[in-house]
Amino acid sequence: MALSYTRASAEGKEPRGDPEPVRIHRGGFSHAPVIQLSNGARTCGSCLRCPTVPCQRYSVDEAANDYFREFPADSSVTVCPTDAIQIGADNCGPVIEKGRCICCGLCVARCPVQAIVLSANGAQVNDSENEVFRLTGKPVDVERVAAITDEYRSVAISGQIADAEFAADVCDRVIDTASRSSVQVPNLLVRNLMLSLGVPFHVRRLGDTNMRIDSVFRSGENRLGVAEIETSEGAILDAPRDILDDCAVLNARYRIPLETIDPLIVSLRFPNRRSEYWQVIKDIADVLGMRIASITVGALLILMWTDRKLGQDIWPEFYADVEAPTIEPVLRRLLGGRINGMVTYPGWSKAAK
Ligand code: SF4
Ligand code: SF4
Repeated sequence: MALSYTRASAEGKEPRGDPEPVRIHRGGFSHAPVIQLSNGARTCGSCLRCPTVPCQRYSVDEAANDYFREFPADSSVTVCPTDAIQIGADNCGPVIEKGRCICCGLCVARCPVQAIVLSANGAQVNDSENEVFRLTGKPVDVERVAAITDEYRSVAISGQIADAEFAADVCDRVIDTASRSSVQVPNLLVRNLMLSLGVPFHVRRLGDTNMRIDSVFRSGENRLGVAEIETSEGAILDAPRDILDDCAVLNARYRIPLETIDPLIVSLRFPNRRSEYWQVIKDIADVLGMRIASITVGALLILMWTDRKLGQDIWPEFYADVEAPTIEPVLRRLLGGRINGMVTYPGWSKAAK
């Protein structure tokens, strides 16, 4: 079936011959991923010009909010939080605008054939033919692309897109971008990172004044997560109190039992050990029995860069307070112990000092 889509003129691409992909290794920052084939050959990816463009947008199902419909969720299905990925006007794959790219790697993680590489110049799409991927001389074939991408998605992935040191750079780019544009940029970055980790997560649409809650997520079977996203280091001290407010709203207005709510604070970096933040988290746990989890954008990036998923009911493991202001135990478990081998930056997994 020939493609019927805005890029109907795009020429299709497909693998040459029969060799199947058996393993994919992401070589890290600035290194093209290596695809190992069943005939022993190795190659890098090349854009298939997917009709559904998974590097650019989510399907309706992927972005659906089917667990808390009353929440006024941002309906964006755009993968890139800065909208840097555009469909090429010509007979080619997506184009990434270097000046808008914050190097988060979300598009890289979603490309089934590993055709996007993250570098200091931003993410770059490889659309060239190589020894495996060749142009077909015909329009993109929807069913053929779906079959190829299904096959590639079933292949084991090792390695990582980038490392913890680079996460600090991404966080700096997020702050810089948010200061020049919409606050929705970091919110959608967090949403999309959560979606990439397998967590149904939704942020409030911009301008909705009837709902103060930043974001909600499905945190487990018959459980609801509520999250405050704080990208300003000064404002994070307000986050625990804001979360209490959120829980009160969910309970009083929507009759959601408090014991089924998982509160979470997402920040760019954790506050210092001496920050009041950690003591307030402990006070709330001691007095109200409510354990507020904490996670950083840096931790979300590293989990996504290493192709991890967050299972349901994991959120209590992200609890940290003044006695142990760290989420390293759960990260170490999720990353298979590799946390010690990573170059880290202050505040991504524990209080900085
Ligand atoms: S870059 Fe990857 S996901 Fe995007 S259109 Fe090309 S092959 Fe598809
Ligand atoms: S790396 Fe992130 S910011 Fe850059 S194009 Fe991809 S999704 Fe957008």
